[in-house]
Amino acid sequence: MTSPRLHGPLARALAPLARQALPLLLRARRRLTRDAYARLLHGYRLDFLQARRAWPAGIAWRLLDVRQMTPQARAYRLQAPPGLRHRPGDVLLLQWHNGDADVQALLARTGWPADAPVRLPGGGSAFLPAPPVQGRLADVLREHLDFRGAAPPPASQMPQAWLAALPRPQPRSYSISGLAATPQGEVVEIIVSDVAGGTGRCSGHLARLRPGIDAVRGWPLAFPLHLAAGGSAPLLVVATGIAAAGPLHELGRAPPRPLWLVVGLRELAAGQPFVQRLLDFAAAHPACRLDLALSRADAGPPPAALPPNVFLHARARVQQVLAAEQARWTAHADAQGHAVLIGHARMGADVQAWLAQWLVASGRAADAAAAQQRLRRMERSLTLQYSLSGD
Ligand SMILES: Cc1cc2nc3c(=O)[nH]c(=O)nc-3n(C[C@H](O)[C@H](O)[C@H](O)COP(=O)(O)OP(=O)(O)OC[C@H]3O[C@@H](n4cnc5c(N)ncnc54)[C@H](O)[C@@H]3O)c2cc1C
Repeated sequence: MTSPRLHGPLARALAPLARQALPLLLRARRRLTRDAYARLLHGYRLDFLQARRAWPAGIAWRLLDVRQMTPQARAYRLQAPPGLRHRPGDVLLLQWHNGDADVQALLARTGWPADAPVRLPGGGSAFLPAPPVQGRLADVLREHLDFRGAAPPPASQMPQAWLAALPRPQPRSYSISGLAATPQGEVVEIIVSDVAGGTGRCSGHLARLRPGIDAVRGWPLAFPLHLAAGGSAPLLVVATGIAAAGPLHELGRAPPRPLWLVVGLRELAAGQPFVQRLLDFAAAHPACRLDLALSRADAGPPPAALPPNVFLHARARVQQVLAAEQARWTAHADAQGHAVLIGHARMGADVQAWLAQWLVASGRAADAAAAQQRLRRMERSLTLQYSLSGD
């Protein structure tokens, strides 16, 4: 999330005014906008602003333990400070920092002394000013600069300009997938996928934390994805892999409604904790339908313990399941059902393309352009929502 940047003496004079004005502006825009998605977004920005002001350095969640949920994803249980309350559907916006090995590699490459003193301007904005950054070079590189992927530094002396131009680490969002009250405070669970072979900035940082010793800092936020938007209308959730975990947790605590889940997995690995969580949800909610698109599994006899409301699709992706279940989707849409797409951006694009085709083929849109307009209207009314990431 970015906020406008102002520079110079005028900016410094206006900054306090801007700080006061922004919450008022966001509140007014939230009230006035007719676009339901824009309203959620203004609400999210306000929430973010208030959380950053309430806890400028973030809240510290202590890592209790880590559990492998799939070969590529781990569940982290985090102990919140006493008194902090989370809501199902919240995300944790978590800060990360570089690993020591990456810092040492950069220092070795450049020959810069780890102890050299560094002072950089604060990386904040007019609305959320940040103090200047100063300290030992190794610490500043580790904590305050996102140097991965930057053009290599010049092979000269201390390149202050190179350091000052580097972006600051941007926090990452993780959906709450479990929540438990304990006498010490709430314990939240997030499930995090490995990306980039385990070297992702924040996912890699989380993987380096030591259970029982380290903490991670950040802010709990109400994410602008609103599973309750349709009230009691039927809801379809399409998710890739562990992205289904947040919605399962939220829906498990929400009033019952007609529910259809289409989840993409590589295979149905028996005994895998995440697969078990999906099957347990289906068993506990017999009125819901769970379609599993198994991209790398061949058709075979279903496992004996499969609940009757779970349907397997071999060598299929989620959009192919929707195509195979087109009559069901049409009935869902005709019943004013809502749809939410959660997970990888490529899946979102594939499902969107399928929806556009369906709108034209079913006579709901005259052509591809009209289908796109229709999709935008569905987004503005929250009939169709997305939470997508990755590239
Ligand atoms: C609202 C919201 C909720 C989210 N909830 C979760 C969650 O519960 N669990 C979870 O694991 N992630 C979740 N994400 C994604 C998460 O915020 C990060 O984007 C993800 O962990 C990668 O961040 P990173 O810093 O580790 O990777 P980066 O260092 O930013 O990226 C390294 C490389 O990995 C690839 N990459 C980046 N993101 C993804 C991705 N999502 N999938 C595949 N490849 C990617 C890219 O090639 C990138 O160049 C959520 C995102 C949003 C917006």
